[in-house]
Amino acid sequence: MATADEEPVLQIRDVNKVFGVVTALNGMKLDVRRGRVHTLLGENGAGKSTLMKILAGVYQPTSGNIRLDGANYHPSNPQDAARLGLTIVFQELSLCNNLTVAENILATREPAVAGFINDRALIRKSRDIVAELGLPIDVTDKVGDLSIAQRQLVEIAKGLSIEAKVVVLDEPTSSLSDNEAEILFSIIERLKARNVAIIYISHRMEEIMRLSDDITVIRDGCYVTTRQREDVTIEELIALMVGRSMDQIYPPREVPAPGASLAPMFSVEGLSREGEFKDITFDVRAGEILGFFGLIGSGRSEVMNALFGVKSATGTVRLEGEPLEIRSPSEAIDHGIAFVTENRKEQGLVLSQSVESNITMAALRRFAARLGFMKHRVETASALVEVERLSIKTANLDTPAGALSGGNQQKIVLAKWLLTEPKVLILDEPTRGVDVGAKFEIYKIIRQLAAEGTAILLISSELPEVLGLSDRVVVMNEGRLAATVTSDRLTPETIMTFATGQH
Ligand code: ADP
Ligand code: MG
Repeated sequence: MATADEEPVLQIRDVNKVFGVVTALNGMKLDVRRGRVHTLLGENGAGKSTLMKILAGVYQPTSGNIRLDGANYHPSNPQDAARLGLTIVFQELSLCNNLTVAENILATREPAVAGFINDRALIRKSRDIVAELGLPIDVTDKVGDLSIAQRQLVEIAKGLSIEAKVVVLDEPTSSLSDNEAEILFSIIERLKARNVAIIYISHRMEEIMRLSDDITVIRDGCYVTTRQREDVTIEELIALMVGRSMDQIYPPREVPAPGASLAPMFSVEGLSREGEFKDITFDVRAGEILGFFGLIGSGRSEVMNALFGVKSATGTVRLEGEPLEIRSPSEAIDHGIAFVTENRKEQGLVLSQSVESNITMAALRRFAARLGFMKHRVETASALVEVERLSIKTANLDTPAGALSGGNQQKIVLAKWLLTEPKVLILDEPTRGVDVGAKFEIYKIIRQLAAEGTAILLISSELPEVLGLSDRVVVMNEGRLAATVTSDRLTPETIMTFATGQH
């Protein structure tokens, strides 16, 4: 087992990279050790990919020194880097689609050697590599016929065929399913066992905490710090990455929270459903963010489903003082209630459909009724406004929603509901599975909606998120309301005491 004290296989010192007027890297340093996963963490634009492209020989540093395995390391291109023992799997793949998997895997070898390899030997050799990695891929398939995820795994196999000392993975899981990611993680374990050093780039904090041995945070092209995984928490890493302390991560209110004298926008009294929740009573004012905290199984999502008409329940619900019966989601939508669900892939999005049709789907009735034949143009214009307002990163409105990152998909779900101009917005785990950068953008959007007068019910299992955004918090425990705590009494300790039923 490699330890942190061993001599680093890769040493980066004082590396600078300037593109015209942009300083992408400024005095960067990094020590990477054999048999360890070293994560490079930083917000978008921090300089991660630039540093990796320097390691791959795609860019030359403006100045600085890099040593690989004790020798000066100045690759002039990726083939050169591979020959010297460093292989890199880029966000943008570099495979030849019209060649087979086997040909791609062995293509980086010296031409003189490759020239003598007959087909059968080539296939056998690449089969061995694929089998060693446990990849579910046939080496005689054309790369062009594989899924993006499979291509990524081939790219990694290709890197391994050169027996690299250092393997760089730049956001490898961004287009992988959970199963495919598991395959990748097992490959990483095998690489570690072979004493290869891995540089890993990802935004997914859970994944980082699971895989990393060392974590280096960079910000604005500068080195910030390196920590061993055991010595750091996700919260600390986020704070280091964004360069703000935790209490500044959640955007502050720009307008004061509505006072208790304001009449409730939405109120719920004695809501019950056999076996799920009992006697739930709360209210929320226009402009207020009411958090819902509880451990798994506490009944929060069930309550929200009942409020949105997905499930029946007994009790009284009032909107702007008027009693309301909500028997189905479409009735809820008609009354101005919107629901951003926990599971966006199953409930919120149609992945095969375009960004535009996903955004406009919930508000369609509105377009149809008001606008007749102008409908389509207005639809497009509205979708565009939301794409810009939420800074959704998409090539265009016709791109299938499934092609976007998790964070951008979640923003589409938000955009879809915003177009219905809801009075009450229910958010169930709105940032689950979303990368850190997109999280902050979603927090800003939530704040802005509240400022515009929407009453917000925010369910989150992340205590800092509930604490950071809510004006008041409803705590649930085993289907019952354990407490409603106002912000002046919000501490992690008080909330946890209620949530665990110890109060
Ligand atoms: P990250 O991978 O951490 O998101 P990058 O390394 O891609 O960050 O970018 C770091 C900074 O360098 C950004 O400000 C980016 O705009 C700039 N940059 C990266 N590549 C180039 C380039 N080829 N030309 C000009 N600026 C670039
Ligand atoms: Mg990048």
